[in-house]
Amino acid sequence: MASAKTLFITGVSSGFGQALAQHALAAGHRVIGTVRSREALQAFEALDATRAVGRLLDVTDAEQIDKVVGEISSSMGEVDVLVNNAGYGHEGILEESSLAEMRRQFDVNVFGAVAMIKALLPGMRQRRRGHIINITSMGGFITLPGISYYCGSKFALEGISETLSKELAPFNIHVTAVAPGSFRTDWAGRSMVRSARTIPDYDALFDPVRQARQEKSGRQPGDPVKAAQAILAAIESPNPPVHLLLGSDALSLVRQKLAALSQEIAEWETLTRSTDA
Ligand code: NAP
Repeated sequence: MASAKTLFITGVSSGFGQALAQHALAAGHRVIGTVRSREALQAFEALDATRAVGRLLDVTDAEQIDKVVGEISSSMGEVDVLVNNAGYGHEGILEESSLAEMRRQFDVNVFGAVAMIKALLPGMRQRRRGHIINITSMGGFITLPGISYYCGSKFALEGISETLSKELAPFNIHVTAVAPGSFRTDWAGRSMVRSARTIPDYDALFDPVRQARQEKSGRQPGDPVKAAQAILAAIESPNPPVHLLLGSDALSLVRQKLAALSQEIAEWETLTRSTDA
């Protein structure tokens, strides 16, 4: 095994976070995992008596993030890898979904991740070593009707991750945005926030999308255990990628998107070029 590391993973109660924590513990690493309930804390710490260290944390509570990180740094020493995994999907047609729902989506998926980075980065920068993994989504590249807030939040996290990778390269700190396709986690089940339908004009477009997602929940092609193995391989790589897609669906859909974008840019090239002095 490569040298044992300390990972700090947000949201280890289910899905990717839980699978990654289990896999990292099995590989000999130490995992600080955050959860939002006492039951989840106990379940997580039961995974390993000494190397699974749970903390209660809602990532929208910036003060609590600073407290937890400060306490962890003094009691457990340095964190080698931060995995910003905590997040959820908001599903709803934009016109039907409130700004409060959008703020909440960005508070968790974007501001929560950035607050975690800001709390752990000074230590990584001083040590000139570290790896920040942000779990984004193929929805950080591709879009479909009914998840504009979610895609917006994941596009934001992709952009932040890529920018940050350039700011931190001189300090030997890697940043990897991991963009999974559809995986069998609680994402489209208990965790999803769904706005109520109010405008019949959208029925034809959106009802089949919502229904298909509900029917597919639990039967997605992606296996979170295999995702955990892939993320650990990226962590153990001396030269990890800035962007990592997970799953064949993400691969083909993102490739299609990039090809379509490239084609549209070419079609409008003359108008694009017309604005130079
Ligand atoms: P999941 O099983 O629902 O797990 C989500 C985790 O995030 C849970 O531990 C949850 O804690 C935690 N969480 C949610 N809101 C939080 C908050 N405000 N503060 C702290 N923790 C919070 O779903 P998942 O698929 O593993 O999701 C993990 C990440 O993968 C998310 O960022 C998601 O957007 C992304 N993703 C998922 C898929 C997919 O198909 N599954 C695809 C692309 C990207 P509780 O148990 O307390 O709710």
